[in-house]
Amino acid sequence: MPELPDVEVFRRYFDSTALHQEITAVEVRETRLLDGIDTRQLNHLLRDKEFTGTERHGKYLFAQVASHGWLVLHFGMTGFLKYYKQSEEEPPYPRLLFEFSNGYRLAYDNMRMLGKVAYIDTIDDYVAKQDLGPDALKLSEEDFIALIPEKRGMIKSALMDQSFIAGLGNIYVDEILFHTGIHPRRQVSDLSDIELQTMYDTMHEVLGTAIELEIVISEFPGDYLIHYRDEDAECPKCGSPIRKIKVASRSTYFCERCQPIKESGE
Ligand SMILES: [Zn+2]
Repeated sequence: MPELPDVEVFRRYFDSTALHQEITAVEVRETRLLDGIDTRQLNHLLRDKEFTGTERHGKYLFAQVASHGWLVLHFGMTGFLKYYKQSEEEPPYPRLLFEFSNGYRLAYDNMRMLGKVAYIDTIDDYVAKQDLGPDALKLSEEDFIALIPEKRGMIKSALMDQSFIAGLGNIYVDEILFHTGIHPRRQVSDLSDIELQTMYDTMHEVLGTAIELEIVISEFPGDYLIHYRDEDAECPKCGSPIRKIKVASRSTYFCERCQPIKESGE
């Protein structure tokens, strides 16, 4: 499922392909993905215009339309972008297609159709309406440490709550907790400031690494949990078996030895 690093890579891809070209047509093949807008309105708003810039907040990508408003893309479980020549084969599940005057298309592909497409005036209003917390990479360490004790319950649930911090999902939360050495079921109220500082630094490191490597998972460092999301796997740090449990109703992988449930003994 696309999380913050994936959407940041999509944003950069969008920037390097689809900006500053005249949009000649918008084809909506799956209207169920449209949120608060219809095909005719979308065509009216985008045709003969250009995309002039992009922003990202959490898992949302925003593409500015010639200083008018913003196209919103959310990728759900399976979404991605593909830019290609109109004469080339299209990706497998293009739900929305933009045609440009240079003979290229940008497809928003989404097999499982759990994302959405919208058109908005301002990002700040939209972020507030969607009840999104600050973006995980734009949040300062001070704010992270100040905010997190307001959350109750387990740390994994807190980190996955988009209204608290926007951008993290199942895979990257497991990765961050693994490198921080914190059990996913630890209570937020049990965590020390030092643990929270380490968690914040680790969050930046993990997300930054994933973006830098353009989410090519095979190139992720060898001690990343993402390569070992399997109950029979050995922990890449200590060799103990990787465990699978449910936390926040999501399959969660962790190492009992590297991530003990008990507090850190302070
Ligand atoms: Zn381990």
